[in-house]
Order: sequence, then structure tokens, then C-alpha cells
Amino acid sequence: MQKRKSYPSLVYGIPISILLVLGLRIIWNPWADEKELEYGQFLHLLDTPTVVWQDVVVRDAEIQGKIRFQQADPHVPTGLELNKTYPFVVTRPPGNEDFSLFDRLKKSLPTFQVKRGRSTFGWIISILYFVVAALAVVALFLYFGLGNRSLAFGKSRHRVFSRASTITFKDVAGIDEAKHELSQVVDFLKNRDRYTRLGARIPRGVLLVGPPGTGKTLLALSVAGEADVPFLSISGSEFVEMYVGVGASRVRDLFRDAGRQAPCIVFIDELDALGRSRGGAAHTAHQEREQTLNQLLVEMDGFDANQGIFIIAATNRPEVLDTALLRPGRFDRTVVVDRPDVDGREQILQVHTQKIQLDSSVNLRKVANLTPGLAGADLANIVNEAALLAAKRNANSVTMTDMNEAIERGAIGLERKSRIMLFEEKQRIAVHEAGHALVACALPDSDLVHKVSIIPRGLAGGYVLQRPENDRLIIRQKELEARIQVALGGTIAEELTFQELSSGATADLQHATQLAEQMVREYGMSKLGRIYYAAPGTRFLESTPESGPQLSEATLREIDMEIRRILQDALEQVRTLLETSHETLTLVTERLITKEVLEDKELFELLYGSGFPLSDKVRTRMQLSGMLKQVDNG
Ligand code: ADP
Ligand code: MG
Ligand code: ZN
Repeated sequence: MQKRKSYPSLVYGIPISILLVLGLRIIWNPWADEKELEYGQFLHLLDTPTVVWQDVVVRDAEIQGKIRFQQADPHVPTGLELNKTYPFVVTRPPGNEDFSLFDRLKKSLPTFQVKRGRSTFGWIISILYFVVAALAVVALFLYFGLGNRSLAFGKSRHRVFSRASTITFKDVAGIDEAKHELSQVVDFLKNRDRYTRLGARIPRGVLLVGPPGTGKTLLALSVAGEADVPFLSISGSEFVEMYVGVGASRVRDLFRDAGRQAPCIVFIDELDALGRSRGGAAHTAHQEREQTLNQLLVEMDGFDANQGIFIIAATNRPEVLDTALLRPGRFDRTVVVDRPDVDGREQILQVHTQKIQLDSSVNLRKVANLTPGLAGADLANIVNEAALLAAKRNANSVTMTDMNEAIERGAIGLERKSRIMLFEEKQRIAVHEAGHALVACALPDSDLVHKVSIIPRGLAGGYVLQRPENDRLIIRQKELEARIQVALGGTIAEELTFQELSSGATADLQHATQLAEQMVREYGMSKLGRIYYAAPGTRFLESTPESGPQLSEATLREIDMEIRRILQDALEQVRTLLETSHETLTLVTERLITKEVLEDKELFELLYGSGFPLSDKVRTRMQLSGMLKQVDNG
């Protein structure tokens, strides 16, 4: 969606251009020594024979030229010396065409010019006045069109909750990890002395990252509530519509206020609207954002964290943030606020149904089961909708039927955002993700699994999070093969369980195919030998120096066959593995359906318990973290 256009330069431009024009007239006027003659006076002077005229130009609105007086005369303007040449200007009276003027001019002057239009200076002045007038009109429009927006410019409109918010941690449910991390911030704010005494550098800010409606704002408010400090908030999107320079001054104001109210929380919502990567188009909106962002960085570097200002920012698009924001001393901590799992959803429902009369038929666990993928805000909406339905029936309490109907309505309304999953779909996703996870845990060259989830994220139905040991510069062939096999694990698991494929594997297939293609064409890891062929995607006959040799039809076919062979080998190995471990697959699937998220520990223990052939990497990991009591030298 297009953001509303901003008119920054206009609002500043109007007063500035008015001042410029007036200033020009007063301070620097190249025509300053030009004498103004009155029209009547001019006519009289025409009749005075002792006056010498030079370079007279008659224009539509004025007459200009030079004049010299040889003799004292009552019509000579005061303050003019005799026998000195002065430039002059006469404004012609508007309206009446003074035909006699030309006769008089002809009579008295040896030569004169007639020009249409106005003098250059007249032009400049009239253009400037026109521009100023136009700007003034636009300014009026803006002023009334945007309400008091331009009135308030330069002045912060951050909301200040005078004595902290009444929201505390107990109002936030289902995002325990995030809550836990922020409880440390509360501790900083409450016991600053303890930290400063030890010389510890208290972090300045945390960044809350998570999809919309997961409770980021709520969480920030609850930190203020818990620590019992004021909460100053401002939203990044407010800056986008503002005029150049205003955003920066607001940021300054905000931090000045914060300095006065410290200890306090400064909350910057929608940081992405403000903190986008700098550079790029030189559009005024960008300039404005850039200035504001720079000011924010300056303020963040400037204040002393030990004085008790703590900044919490929220975004659902961390990937677009300017990296400068994430540097140490700025938002150096990121707290992920994820969509809640079943337990989390149940807890959130409990929080929101506290003040609602529930019928005994209502089973919040069931509601939670029916709403995977929904965030806290969605759940709050469902509860509210159910209460409205009950009120419409004129009932005394909310029944499970109301809840179900609210879920259905919600499902339709939320269809685009976060569809409520059908059970069958949920099962399929669970099987698919379990497949990925199992393969990853069996292969020695695969990265350790960190988390398996069937809570939708972005476009993916679920995901397996793997944790690479460290930044990799090169990847070995076995590792590439392992990645291909892990990618294929999902679709094979589906094939084995349902004897039918689904469309959910596109991204996996694409990933696996790309890897195989790179192995053949770029890394020399195929029967074709150590040859570099055109980078994948480069077309036949479109050869460039980088794309390697021209490829014949025959070579292309060979490349194709090698890619297929690599994928085929991988498919067979994965199939064998998952066929022999079908029981484990079912076990993990079922656990995923009930819990939705499996952390590494739980997954490993489940796999270990079922006799799954875990890789040495996983076993070592389990031993190191004390999951396996005795060293298992199997
Ligand atoms: P975000 O800032 O992440 O978009 P909000 O904090 O604005 O989400 O959430 C909107 C509303 O949804 C909250 O005011 C609250 O009523 C409800 N809500 C969201 N997440 C939670 C949660 N984890 N626990 C309780 N209520 C929640
Ligand atoms: Mg919010
Ligand atoms: Zn997959």
C-alpha cells in the first residue's frame, strides 16, 4: 500500500520564500537607486525642455529610462542633484489606454522604445509573488486538510502515561520466552544501582520482533507496568507522513522528555517504517526518514543508559532494518515474539476470558486446538466476538457454540492473514516437518536441529530450524548431499504416510534441485568431472566469459541427467531411512500435532527412546548437554 504523500518542503518552503522575497526587496535591490516618478510628475517633466532623456522604454505597465536635470524646476523630485543621470521608473496607471502619452513622448523625446510586457525585474517580482500566493493557498489547503497536523509540527505527540501503565506481565500470556527475557529489563530498571555499582553496561534497548498481533506493544507496556516507570511511546509510521526535519526534532523532544522522566521506557512501535536501510531514492519521504533515523541513532548513542532510559522497539519486518540500528549499544538484543503454540493459546484465552461469564460447556483447550496459527490479538477478537454473540442472544453466559461460531467467523475474516488450519492439513504438515527433522537427525553431515514447528510462518505451513555450527565459507560435498536429503525428507514422509503427494513441497523441491544443479555445474561434483559450466539459470547460447564454455545439446542433456541422478540417489536414501523408521515418524508426527512445537531436547529424547539411528553429532550433543546419562558407545 502506498503511504500518504508528504509535503515537507512546501510547509517549510512557504515562510522561507516569503522571507526571501521580502528580504530581497529590502536588503538587496539592484534597482535601489532607481527613482520612482509619479505618472503626473512624469508628464510634467516631459513638457519641461531642460530635462534630458535617455534610453526610455515604454512597457505595458511602466516606463523606464534615465533622466538628467539641467535646471532647477518645481517638478524635479527632491533630493536629486542637477546634472547627474538617474535611472527612473514610472508606473503607468492601470486600465485606461493613454493615447495622448505616445504623442507627448514623440514630441519631447528624440527616441524611445516601446516594448510589450513587463520589465525583467517586473517579471521576476510578479512570478515570485505568484509563487508565494500559490504556496500560501496550498499551505491553507494542507492546514485545513490535515487538521492540526501541521499545527503540531515540531512538537512531539508521543503519549506519556503519567505514572506507568496498569498492564503487567500477568496480562501477557503464551509468550513466556519473550517475557522471561524482558523480566531482566524490569530488573535493570528497578535495581539500576546494583548494576551500575559493578560497572556493568546496561543495554540500551531491545528489539521485539514478531508477526502482527502477537503482543509486542502489550509486552512493552507490561515492562513499564512491572517496573512502575513512565511509558513514552511513538510510532515509526507517524514519521513517514511528516515534513522534513520534523521527525528529527520529534525524536529530540522525545528523548528530552525521557531524560526528564527517567527512569522510563521509550517505546518505538513500527521501527521498520523509520529504520529502513538508508540510501536509495532521493525522495523527500526517504530524506525525512533518513534524517529521523540519523537523529535516533545520535540520541541512542548520546544518552547514558545508566540514567535509566530504556528503549523498546517493535517490528514485524526485521529484515528491512538498517544494520546501524542493530549495532552494539543500540538495539543489541533481539527478542522474538512468536505466534503462540497450543499451550500459549490456551493461556491467552484464559487471560481474555477472565472478565467474561463462561458457560460450563466452554473448553478453552478445545478452542486453542482449533486455532493454530492465530496470534494473541486474533484470540482476543474471537473471545470478544463470542461475547457479542452471547449478548445478541440475550444470554447470561458465553457457550461453546458461541465460541465455535466466533472461530468460524474469525476464520473467514482472517483467511488471508493466518488461515485456521484444518485438522487434515495440520496432520499433513506435521508429517512433512517430522520427515525433515528425522532425516536431519540421522545424517552425520547435517546441521543440528534446533526446533520443529507446525505453526505457520510466512508462507510456510511449518518449519524445521537447523542451527549451523558457525559461519561457513565452504561446504563439503557430503554436506550438500545431506541438505538435499533433508529437503526431500518432507515430501517422502508425506508419500509414505498418505500414498499421495501434496503441493506443499514446491519450495523443498526447488531448493533440492538448485543444490543439485550447483553441484553439477559449479562445483564439479558429478560424473561430468571438474568442469565449470554456466551458472544455473544461464541459458543455452547466452554465453558470457563468466558462464563458461558454450554448451552443446549433448552436454546440456548430460548435465540434466546428472542433476536427476543426484536427486534420485537422495530420494532413495531418504525413502529407505524413513521406511525403516516409520514408527518413529508416526511418533514424532503425533507429538507435533499435540504440541505444535518441539525443541531440540524433546525431539532428540523422543527419537532416542524409539531406537532411531541418531547421528553421532546428535548423540554428542545429547551427552554434552546431559540428556544422556551414561556414555553410549554403541
Ligand atoms: P503487536 O504489537 O504485536 O501487533 P499488540 O500488543 O498490539 O500486538 O496486541 C494487540 C492485542 O491483542 C493486545 O492488546 C491484547 O489484547 C491481545 N494480545 C496479543 N498478544 C497477547 C498475549 N500474548 N497475551 C495476551 N493478550 C494478547
Ligand atoms: Mg503493536
Ligand atoms: Zn518442507
